[in-house]
Amino acid sequence: MAASSPDFAEPVFRFAPSPNGRLHLGHALSVLTNERLAHKLGGQLLLRIEDIDVTRCKPEFEAGIREDLAWLGLRFDGAVRRQSEHFERYAEVVGGLQARGLVYPCFCSRQVIKRAVGLRQAWPVDPDGAPLYPGTCRACDPAEAATRIAAGEPHVLRLAMDHAIATVGGAAGYVAFYEAGHERLVAVQPARWGDVVLARKEVPTSYHLSVVLDDALQGVTHVVRGRDLEAATDIHVVLQRLLGLPTPRYHFHPLLSDETGQKLAKSRLSESLADLRERGVTAGEIRAQLGFG
Ligand code: GLU
Repeated sequence: MAASSPDFAEPVFRFAPSPNGRLHLGHALSVLTNERLAHKLGGQLLLRIEDIDVTRCKPEFEAGIREDLAWLGLRFDGAVRRQSEHFERYAEVVGGLQARGLVYPCFCSRQVIKRAVGLRQAWPVDPDGAPLYPGTCRACDPAEAATRIAAGEPHVLRLAMDHAIATVGGAAGYVAFYEAGHERLVAVQPARWGDVVLARKEVPTSYHLSVVLDDALQGVTHVVRGRDLEAATDIHVVLQRLLGLPTPRYHFHPLLSDETGQKLAKSRLSESLADLRERGVTAGEIRAQLGFG
């Protein structure tokens, strides 16, 4: 297969698991959907390891993921990109946004935010159910913030969302993305997320920042992922516009539930592909069960 051209004419898909646990059937659905679409469009399928969470991500989980993917019969194009090897690049990009006044340091702990919003009635929450950041540190004097940072006070870096929205073209809902399969433009609503964290306390990036940068850097043209990440795409589109990066096409596949109706999740210790394999289930049976037989 030819290397991707600079204008990203060749379709490029990616599967981007986080090695903080073993893969379950939901991940299998995700990677097989990517594989099917990449095959249909004659495109590439890349593997990216999203391991910025240095405490929860472990090499043995990455090894397990690679084993599961090989067992399912998946083959990936190009080199595997491991996000933990690119912290410097992410820090540089956040620094650039900060220099443009789009990012500010925030010293509030979760408890401080909870207390601040708990005092007010019916405080709005983001699509993930977390209270919107009340903006406490936005008013911080920059010299004072610099002194606190120099003294080693833990802090995150937040995107000043209303400023970001104004910079990319005004009202929320102005930017839009295609959803493959429905072929419609979907207006994004980034304001509903408030001032999201772009760099965490322990690492100079966040899921949002690194996923956007890496999709662009790897020439990804089609992002195929679970419906649970649909709302977060609001933030991704704003970051793409701010950074002058292309917006890929998006497709969100349904989420799988277990027999009790609960969404499959690593955090709920849903039965893993490795568990299924141990029970004697074959890769062919998994493919067939998910509609890829
Ligand atoms: N790393 C994310 C996860 O494992 C997926 C990110 C994405 O597909 O954008 O949930």
